[in-house]
Amino acid sequence: MSILTDIIDAVIDGLKAAWNAITSVFSTKPVSSPTQGCAATPLSDLSKSTPRYDSLPQTVSLSKEACDTMQKLTDQSIDAKGNSTEHAGTLVTDPQGKLLVVNEKSGASGDVTPSTSAPKDHIYIGTFHTHPYGKNDGTWDGAHMPFSGGDVGTLDNFKEKVSVVQSGPNKYVLVQTDQTPSTISTIEADKEYDKVFDAEYAAQQKLGKTDAESASIAGEKATAALAKKYNLGYYKGTDCASLSRVNP
Ligand SMILES: [Zn+2]
Repeated sequence: MSILTDIIDAVIDGLKAAWNAITSVFSTKPVSSPTQGCAATPLSDLSKSTPRYDSLPQTVSLSKEACDTMQKLTDQSIDAKGNSTEHAGTLVTDPQGKLLVVNEKSGASGDVTPSTSAPKDHIYIGTFHTHPYGKNDGTWDGAHMPFSGGDVGTLDNFKEKVSVVQSGPNKYVLVQTDQTPSTISTIEADKEYDKVFDAEYAAQQKLGKTDAESASIAGEKATAALAKKYNLGYYKGTDCASLSRVNP
């Protein structure tokens, strides 16, 4: 190679570098946060610190182990006669950081109090409970309902970073954020819930929906309203690998 070609090559390389520098300034690269890629953020990761309300991931995932236990407790929530009994568990992370549901227990038809204790070397992060609707629930048999006003109102009492409810095939997740108030009044949460629920229930009835359908739609709307009021991350879905953000 001659000296002249070396010089020309060097000049061309220099021009290329300059051109790349110029185009990189003007090209519009999509700006994305690491948590908002294609892969869902494990709920266990989200519980490690308090997430920012304005940068919550689009989707979250639950471990297969936790998901299986939630399904088992959901199956146990409707007995052979078709009647409902709420079941619950404690959400913990194991020493490897994996989400698990422990302390499985059953409660009453419309009520269960989860345990907030974690086994040795595990970290308590919140609670799980089921919302089954069976024959004993009358015309609401088969309804799917997310968090009640009481469930949201006790997030602070139970010191829950995250909370999960399963109703039928649906899983619902609430995540406390940096914008969530440190105390939530259960009376206030109930009042807001009932206001939204009752209006939507009446509207759905007018449209000819069944009682169970009306309750399911109104319940989701009321939970979403509370998530917005208290700046909670709210996710919903049937696939534990990817639950989608409803709020914000
Ligand atoms: Zn509940």
